[in-house]
Amino acid sequence: RGTTIGRVRLAGGTEVAALGQGTWRIGDNPRRWGEEIAALQAGVELGMNLIDTAEMYGEGRAESLVGEALKGKRDSVFLVSKVYPHNAGRARIFRSCEESLKRLGTDRLDLYLLHWRGRVPLEETVECMERLAEQGKIIRWGVSNFDTADMRELAALAGGSRCAVNQVLYHLGSRGIEYDLLPWQRERGMPIMAYSPLAQAGELRKGLTEHPAVVQAAEAHGASPLQILLAWSIRGGNIIAIPKASSVRHVTENAQAARIRLSDEEIAALEDAFPPPSRKVPLDII
Ligand code: NDP
Repeated sequence: RGTTIGRVRLAGGTEVAALGQGTWRIGDNPRRWGEEIAALQAGVELGMNLIDTAEMYGEGRAESLVGEALKGKRDSVFLVSKVYPHNAGRARIFRSCEESLKRLGTDRLDLYLLHWRGRVPLEETVECMERLAEQGKIIRWGVSNFDTADMRELAALAGGSRCAVNQVLYHLGSRGIEYDLLPWQRERGMPIMAYSPLAQAGELRKGLTEHPAVVQAAEAHGASPLQILLAWSIRGGNIIAIPKASSVRHVTENAQAARIRLSDEEIAALEDAFPPPSRKVPLDII
């Protein structure tokens, strides 16, 4: 216990925890369900009470697992799910949303995101999202994997300014959004939800966690390099990071990262090691 997780204001005013929990690839292995449920529940107890899922994840299995984990606890979390682009129009979104609600064992989502931009016209998706909100099926909506040009287009539509959040890839090794997307959203009071804040796994992550600037900060804080990545990702106050973890140990380490306050010197050293781009780069997408 004893973690103090900061709060981030969504466009529209509600505050949520700056650290939440992702669920991609959770629920895929039936033998691991018990452990994954325990991990999610521990994370909620530790204050990471924003849970991010999607109809895509395991074709509904992740949502079902989240539903199981939240039995009797629905009201203690801020629940986020996403609709596939091909389901994000009049013909399918209402059924998609209903099925997500059923798997999650709830009557409403706190936030419903368009997973990425597809062929359905944005106007139509916005209209459907607004309808779902009127019906009380969702409290608010947002988007994911939208670059600055997409956000401008969205903002120009009727109702488009009610978009609460944009969920995009962001970690120390992928800072493209700092060039224009993050400032554009900051001006409008709309936070970024950072996915893959631990840079997933593998070589890319190793390049970050083994870098002397990260290792040095980790040693100074008695923390792990991954905790430094997380603390770094939420340093600005308008980013919500949603690391995915499937054990209580990992979840606990992640929650504790919220305690770390990086000094200006440490942030500058990380800046030197992994500078943000000085010109526009297209949004990184997984
Ligand atoms: P992350 O960057 O969160 O990394 C997850 C990996 O890190 C897992 O292998 C996990 O292992 C491991 N891990 C977590 N905590 C620790 C720890 N303390 N120590 C060591 N290893 C750890 O990757 P994701 O891609 O999963 O991103 C997070 C979430 O963002 C997703 O789950 C999903 O909800 C969302 N997302 C959204 C996308 C979109 O298009 N909108 C795209 C990609 C992700 P283990 O499971 O064994 O704990």
